[in-house]
Amino acid sequence: MNAPAASWLDEIPARLADIGRAHLLRRRRVVQPAGGARLLVDGQPMLAFCSNDYLGLAGHPALAEAAREATHRFGVGSGGSPLVSGHSAANAALEQELAAFVQLPRALYFYAGYATNTGIIPALVGDGDALFSDALNHACLIDGARLSRATIHRYPHADLAALEAALAASPARRKLVVSDAVFSMDGDLIDIPALLALCERFDALLLLDDAHGFGVLGPQGRGSLAQAGLTGAAASRRVLYMATLGKAAGVAGAFVAGDAALIEWLLQKTRTYIFATAAPPLLASALSKSLELIAAADDRRQQLGARIAQLRSGLAALPAAVGWHLLPSDTAVQALVIGSNEAALAVMESLRAEGLWVPAIRPPTVPAGTARLRIALSSAHTAEDVDLLLQALQRHAAGCTTTAQT
Ligand SMILES: *Cc1c(COP(=O)(O)O)cnc(C)c1O
Repeated sequence: MNAPAASWLDEIPARLADIGRAHLLRRRRVVQPAGGARLLVDGQPMLAFCSNDYLGLAGHPALAEAAREATHRFGVGSGGSPLVSGHSAANAALEQELAAFVQLPRALYFYAGYATNTGIIPALVGDGDALFSDALNHACLIDGARLSRATIHRYPHADLAALEAALAASPARRKLVVSDAVFSMDGDLIDIPALLALCERFDALLLLDDAHGFGVLGPQGRGSLAQAGLTGAAASRRVLYMATLGKAAGVAGAFVAGDAALIEWLLQKTRTYIFATAAPPLLASALSKSLELIAAADDRRQQLGARIAQLRSGLAALPAAVGWHLLPSDTAVQALVIGSNEAALAVMESLRAEGLWVPAIRPPTVPAGTARLRIALSSAHTAEDVDLLLQALQRHAAGCTTTAQT
């Protein structure tokens, strides 16, 4: 045994080594765009299946042009909090456009999705209130819940009977249900009308995080709430719809939309909004252009749908003996569960050796024993791109089953 370290800071290298031994050490790669779904990764050309740029808009010249023009008009920085001097004309215009796009009364635009959820949840509920959270919710919903100091009821993933029981048993007057709409590591879509019906029955507010549905799902990409028919005249004041703008929208930031009084409340009470510098106006201008492109991108959504179908039917043909398990999902997020961290990393490495970049997602991002490849598809992928991935997985699976039998 080592002698106890003099300072806890001396223990950091050993703790890092522990992370390495558990195959949990994360590494950043330096990337540059290389056309379509291709990237230069640490200088090497790779075909990437790990971007959330689902519509291939992040590199769109019209967005770059909008940002360039806005830089000339507004400069680069916003200069302050939106409540002081940072609420640029570009940001104000974007909020109107976001609300109109998702067909809800009012929207509030944030610099990041993480800050949105960690800020708005504590603005809505606190000590003595009750919060109900799906077990597979995104980390920032979990962190927002913890920050709020509300009593947290975590229900099994998508188990609405368990949620109903927890709501019925709660004596709290203020109840908030929070859920991903499309789950970020599994790709499945929650039953939004059923969730909302429960919230209505128990006088709860519903916060839906549509980071992976916005731009992709619903008519003209207006998101999963629009797909469920719960926007416009059918909008409920019980739903706060949150979505991020760094994924299908191809830029950065996030917004929350809903009932005008609730949005005003969030504007008054959200600390991550009040005490932070507003997003640069050039991003808001790029986002205004992005909303136009998203609305007109039925061709891109169709292309994405074709790639999803192609990948799923190809993966269904993998040998069962390998023990991999494709989770049910109709979205751009396709999770191929491998099992152990080590096995998932081995598949990732063998794909990498063939020039294919598919991330292995490990605990704590996903539950222990469900390490997986998270295959993110984009309209920028061609049928040939998806074929390359399928063939490589096929070869790796064949190798695994041979090893298992000998
Ligand atoms: C990416 C993501 C976020 C965080 O958004 P950022 O803008 O990247 O901070 C929040 N919720 C979900 C479900 C996400 O996938």
